[in-house]
Amino acid sequence: MKVFKKWYLYVVLITVLLAVKDENYLIDIAPAISNVSTTQKVVALTFDDGPLNTSTPVILGVLQEKKVKATFFVVGERVKRFPSLVQQEVNEEHEIGNHTYNHPWLTGLNDRLIIEELEKTENEISKVVPTPTLFRPPGGKYNDNTIKLARSRGYNTILWSIDTEDWRSPPVGQIVNTVLNNVKPGSIILLHDGKYPSPTAESLEYIIDNLRARGYEFVTVSELLQYYEEGR
Ligand SMILES: [Zn+2]
Repeated sequence: MKVFKKWYLYVVLITVLLAVKDENYLIDIAPAISNVSTTQKVVALTFDDGPLNTSTPVILGVLQEKKVKATFFVVGERVKRFPSLVQQEVNEEHEIGNHTYNHPWLTGLNDRLIIEELEKTENEISKVVPTPTLFRPPGGKYNDNTIKLARSRGYNTILWSIDTEDWRSPPVGQIVNTVLNNVKPGSIILLHDGKYPSPTAESLEYIIDNLRARGYEFVTVSELLQYYEEGR
């Protein structure tokens, strides 16, 4: 009887340990967000690698003229050089996200360096605007560990569902078609304001006009997350 009890206790103990481990495991591997499940016609335009004093003001001008809110995943080293552009982005009701300080592939870095990339960028951002809650890994390179470390600093890891490859400088029509052929409610669209010259600003005008004609609204990424509908 005594032996049986001991055996039973071990089973209970192992089950409890597995359950705890499983729960942590789920938290650790929760995927990065590349789009939001929703039936509402909302999308988020996102711009990476800025701010840059050549391309960012032109893109901000288009967004301002069209009355569209977007999300800028900024690089810390550039925030340090052009802080007033980040200030302008927030003043014009856009959202800011952390895109690391030096734009390295994080999957090749140790924990200390990953945290340093996030922290140094936060420090530059928070000199001018509130600390962000969104993080996008450079090149979309991430793993369970980068998600976990970002989360430990209060970030949601955000990817994209439509890659325009605008940084390769394709023709404007190609960028616009990539968006129009792939858009659906909850899409996160990847564009860049960190390169000049670039076809992005011109493409942006067509993207906005065409999506509006199809009934789409533009929201920031944090706003888009609020549209999540369970089971969709
Ligand atoms: Zn980037």
